Amino acid sequence: MDAHLARMLTSARQCRCCGATFAQLLSLSCDRPDVCPDDLVVQDNSAVLEERGDVLTEDFCRYGKLRFVRAVLALPLADSRGAEFLLGTWASLNEDDFDAYLDLFDMRETESMGSRPAWLANAIPPESGAPVACMRHMRPEGEYPELQVSESNNALARLQQTGVQLEELLELLYAYGHDLPSLVYDS
Ligand SMILES: [Zn+2]
Repeated sequence: MDAHLARMLTSARQCRCCGATFAQLLSLSCDRPDVCPDDLVVQDNSAVLEERGDVLTEDFCRYGKLRFVRAVLALPLADSRGAEFLLGTWASLNEDDFDAYLDLFDMRETESMGSRPAWLANAIPPESGAPVACMRHMRPEGEYPELQVSESNNALARLQQTGVQLEELLELLYAYGHDLPSLVYDS
């Protein structure tokens, strides 16, 4: 493993903005799809069945004609022996897939959907442009589906295939507002 990365992974140093360690920052989460306005309040998942119209819950979002579910985008870290940067993000689905996923979610049988096309509904890094085409791979009970970028010329597809270099990861974290010099240079 890259020695600098190994040191970062076990460092107790904390980010200035949020108090997280580097290891904790390897798991970031977007609380809503980019198009979903900030004034839509996050509710319990039951609200998606109980309410009509626009709704945002922990794992589902219905906004106008758009349908979203929570999904994970994993970027492997280069030279890390399997460490990953995990982004809790959102996938945009067609209405049929959304309804089918919702039906299966309560029964914990979403894995039976296999792999379905979806769009990444959060720009990564933020403000980086148009939605990206993905495959959404279902995983076993209790785990969020995982997104695999299917546009082979997209920067994220390259990072998923070849892994993220430490410098690239630090840039990415910086784009999410994390003040990492305190983590990187003091240790
Ligand atoms: Zn921070």
